[in-house]
Amino acid sequence: MKIAILSQDPSLYSTKRLKLAGEEQGHEMRVVNYLRCYMNITSHKPTVFYNGKPLENFDAIIPRIGASRTFYGTAVVRQFEVMGVFSANESQAISRSRDKLRCLQILAREGIGLPVTGFAHATEDIDGLIETVGGAPLVIKLLEGTQGIGVVLAETYQAAKSVIEAFRGLEVNILVQEFIKEAKGADIRCLVVGGKVIAAMKRQGAPGEFRSNLHRGGHAQAVKLTPEERSTAIRSAKAMGLRVAGVDLLRSNHGPVVMEVNSSPGLEGIEKATGIDVAGKIINFIAKNATPTKNRDRIQ
Ligand code: ADP
Ligand code: GLU
Repeated sequence: MKIAILSQDPSLYSTKRLKLAGEEQGHEMRVVNYLRCYMNITSHKPTVFYNGKPLENFDAIIPRIGASRTFYGTAVVRQFEVMGVFSANESQAISRSRDKLRCLQILAREGIGLPVTGFAHATEDIDGLIETVGGAPLVIKLLEGTQGIGVVLAETYQAAKSVIEAFRGLEVNILVQEFIKEAKGADIRCLVVGGKVIAAMKRQGAPGEFRSNLHRGGHAQAVKLTPEERSTAIRSAKAMGLRVAGVDLLRSNHGPVVMEVNSSPGLEGIEKATGIDVAGKIINFIAKNATPTKNRDRIQ
């Protein structure tokens, strides 16, 4: 098969691993910078161009779209979809997952366990918002934050109020969440591919840090999931419509609660922590599910 990895940087660990895993399985792999792709939107012969030439006869794409490039990146993915190319994740599912609030609303609709979460526009409603999540301590999150930046633990009611006012004063969107203290600064990342959990790790924050992000000095190790955690991760990926997903859970007193579902999960942390060939499993899944080029021509 001929597979394109849509990535801005061929030297990233995940990009390199996917390319290598594909080549090991005998596929033709190409890394394509999606920001340099341009398109002709026509119903006759929709095309993606790259370096002046059309990208033709691809059987599948693996989108690795950066959070700040969602708009253009998903447009490129959509164009491939119009051309009948199989995508490891569909453009719509990627867009959906990029909005933390929308993501939580979709999971809530499916009855999936979540930390109690509040969202409001007007600063006049701060008291009500704090009450909704059961008062302090609570967690305040910038809707646009990644890698733990913009995630604040407010220990007291007064601290919560000041931080919310400050964020709202800056006109940024935030959500307010019950603090899952019993998670003790750890979270669980489940890698779901094609409706199965293929790897899972526990990330533990640095001492004194409630955020477990590896970028914030956390460390990771393989973890055995409970059946409930496993099914929560699978249901979350399904609800979001993601074939490949990184589902982040917290172990709460009332069972697993989902914080976030990531559509371009990093491979380095999880491969190193578990020793599992995650890239190989993603390629395997694509090879099994992508429609061969022949059929694609027929669809067009
Ligand atoms: P980001 O997407 O920026 O990584 P997260 O929402 O995943 O932001 O939060 C970062 C980290 O903070 C999580 O991995 C988790 O360890 C911790 N955390 C987030 N929300 C809560 C919460 N409600 N209760 C306890 N810890 C939390
Ligand atoms: N982008 C990384 C991932 O999805 C986040 C790593 C981290 O900071 O924990 O795995």
